[in-house]
Amino acid sequence: MKIMNKINRLERILHHAYTTTPFYMDSDDDYINDIRGKGFVLKEESDWEKIPLTKKEDIVLHKDSFISSHYLSLYLQEKLLQVSTSGSTGKCVEIYWSKSDNNRSLMPLWLKRKRYYQINPHDRHCYFYTGRKLGETDIETEDIGYARGFCKSNLNEKKLVQIWYEMIAYNPIWFVLQPSMGALLAKVVETYNLPMIPNLRYIEMSGEMLLPAVREQIERVLHVRIANQYGCVEMNSIAYECSEGYLHCMEENVFTEILDDDGKAVSEGEEGNIYITTLLNYAMPLIRYQIGDRGRFVNQRCDCGNHETIMELSNGRNNDWVIDNNGEYINAYIFIRCITNTNIICENAIYQFQVIQHEIGRFSVNLVIDDEFPAEKIRSLFLENLWQTSLSGAAVHFNFHPNLYPDSSIGKLKWFINEMNLTEINREE
Ligand SMILES: [Zn+2]
Repeated sequence: MKIMNKINRLERILHHAYTTTPFYMDSDDDYINDIRGKGFVLKEESDWEKIPLTKKEDIVLHKDSFISSHYLSLYLQEKLLQVSTSGSTGKCVEIYWSKSDNNRSLMPLWLKRKRYYQINPHDRHCYFYTGRKLGETDIETEDIGYARGFCKSNLNEKKLVQIWYEMIAYNPIWFVLQPSMGALLAKVVETYNLPMIPNLRYIEMSGEMLLPAVREQIERVLHVRIANQYGCVEMNSIAYECSEGYLHCMEENVFTEILDDDGKAVSEGEEGNIYITTLLNYAMPLIRYQIGDRGRFVNQRCDCGNHETIMELSNGRNNDWVIDNNGEYINAYIFIRCITNTNIICENAIYQFQVIQHEIGRFSVNLVIDDEFPAEKIRSLFLENLWQTSLSGAAVHFNFHPNLYPDSSIGKLKWFINEMNLTEINREE
């Protein structure tokens, strides 16, 4: 994203962070000391690149020193909105927002929902939430404003059918779903030939990667328009898919950068780590914060009329690590590449997948595939496309499932799990 377009808002949040927020105030970085005296005025683009980066681990370690002193009283009175996200190590990261900043940061998304998909804040929608009481078997629901949430714990086909009928009764116009939940719903609707939800016409996907096969399946079965929304609790919305199918950065809400592994800006169009600076969260300002995803900017004008930068996400989080035959850590992204290549050859026959590393040289691969495609063929294509010589000879056990359900503790389908005890692992560089 072009820095100079955002310079005033970046200077404002920078000044706020470095003058009111203990974590940043304690910084004795040379460049920070240099511009501190000048009131955090950024003269040129390269000035911004000298501002230190922030990691998720910093929040885990320093917690409330990320709260601005201007909001400390609200924080202590528990009047800030609190949301949490789980890091790769399972540690929860607590994020705080003032209610007004949170509402302001959601505005651009609402405006775009309306502009592209004619969705208004008063249109009913449904979503799934992670179970809070494990072991409950009844359908639990929650109603918040114009939305009804359904509990995601203990899902099976029978429960999904029940939920679907409850949804029909509620008659929402749209859904917010993780792709794994969309795939499950489409599957039961198709399998049991369930009636459609009369008003349903749009599904917003977020939280997991959306494989093309899943997208096609949901669009075909549920007759809806699908859009990807890329966001996180730390920032709210980061990018949103327009009517032309491109993911535009939410430039009113956040400033996005793509940096290489050394924290330097990548060349135009190159893939790298995504770093986000909030433009709206003044209670807990996060500056140049590594979100844990990878992506690239696409230098292209879009016919939708939105001139905000287009980005492409590399599928999946980059914070899970595979340990190869030599004991070296390698990014689990190798499996995404493998699935993507296999899907290209077998016409998107893989709907869902999950790879588990049990120990060095031993993996399980759980797959949901198109029934009409021979499983044996997928198995051999997967192994052929793994291309990782340091994993060669590994025992890979394939399991084919009718469905894969999200992990009930995190509410997501984790596509890679390393069961080895990665105690020293904290490689979210
Ligand atoms: Zn567009």
